[in-house]
Amino acid sequence: MAHINESYLELSGSYLFAHINRRVAAFRSSHPDADIIRLGIGDVTRPLVPAVIRAMHAAVDEMASAATFRGYGPEQGYEFLQEAILDGDYRPRNVKLDADEIFISDGSKCDVANIQEIFSADVKIAIADPVYPVYLDSNIMAGRSRNIVFLPGSAGNDFLPQIPDEKVDLIYLCSPNNPTGSVLDRAALTRWVEYARENRAVILFDSAYSAYIRDETLPRSIYEIPGARDVAIEFKSFSKSASFTGVRCAYTVIPKELKGFDRNGNPHLLHTFWNRRQTTKFNGTSYIVQRAAEAACRGEGRIQNQAVIDYYMGNADIIRNGLEKAGYTVYGGKNAPYIWWKLPSGLDSMKFFDTLLETCQVVGTPGVGFGSCGEGYFRLTAFGDRERTREAVKRIVAAGL
Ligand code: PLP
Repeated sequence: MAHINESYLELSGSYLFAHINRRVAAFRSSHPDADIIRLGIGDVTRPLVPAVIRAMHAAVDEMASAATFRGYGPEQGYEFLQEAILDGDYRPRNVKLDADEIFISDGSKCDVANIQEIFSADVKIAIADPVYPVYLDSNIMAGRSRNIVFLPGSAGNDFLPQIPDEKVDLIYLCSPNNPTGSVLDRAALTRWVEYARENRAVILFDSAYSAYIRDETLPRSIYEIPGARDVAIEFKSFSKSASFTGVRCAYTVIPKELKGFDRNGNPHLLHTFWNRRQTTKFNGTSYIVQRAAEAACRGEGRIQNQAVIDYYMGNADIIRNGLEKAGYTVYGGKNAPYIWWKLPSGLDSMKFFDTLLETCQVVGTPGVGFGSCGEGYFRLTAFGDRERTREAVKRIVAAGL
């Protein structure tokens, strides 16, 4: 008999975003003339920048000639992209990494979900609440539903994960955080690195939104913190920094000092384990996409993408300032493309989703979709069109919800 993985039965019902899409579709069919503005899903809307498009075209042309055609590439990614990443994201911030410590992939979602495979089934895992739901769901799928320690975020702790009383082995940190927009500063990140060093724990640092950090004092990489190379894996993505949500490219950094331990306490290099995992289960990111990502890292491509990020952050300012001026309490939106809106007290975020859709024809994301501590909050994203964002804020303010 084909027994199922019963852990899947422990996942919370229908995935929130599918649920939202169904509700929007139902509203659309009952109100065919409604002018709906979507500030819900975290997808970008601006196109790929010209330097990236040019690089992709050139790579396509290379594929057309036997002399320059590429078949299977290295599963870890091409060195030209690893070097471009070092030039773009690390060398300017004085972070020293070797090119082969960077594993290129087709997305951070897969990487943050798959990384747990190289750890034992009984590791205890700390996960912030609210946060990107993939960390929790992928560990539930792997049978760890009873090994999770939630780190509750609230206005009282600036939605920043605090060190737990009980000992944990793996710690997911998302900074800037999706959905709250909060960012761990140097002091907070240093405390986590020290905790991990003292407890032989490993930090899984997801900085998919680091390109949105405007405050120069905030760390964009965990490796800016002394000692982090021994205890941290870092995930970054081109999705939100270079409009690659449909193109797909990301990377995971595993320093060669970083160790996990077997049940006898013997150390093993996690770099070796992840390399083994990737070479077995992943066949590399396409050459064309890696050339496109290379163009996004440096020179013109980087400048053009920065202008796109500035555009989105201009939207974030409009949402944040507009709601604040109307008397609402909002968080985030300063160093992240997400605005975390505190709902007037007692309002249920799922019900508020319907109210906002019906009264303003604006779509957002209920906070409860990111964890129980997200109840009472609502996420708006800055990834929309400028004028439509202005219009959404105008409607919300006029409705006086
Ligand atoms: N990590 C966080 C915190 C995210 O919000 C997202 C996407 O929304 C991802 C990772 C996934 O990124 P990718 O498109 O690279 O899979």
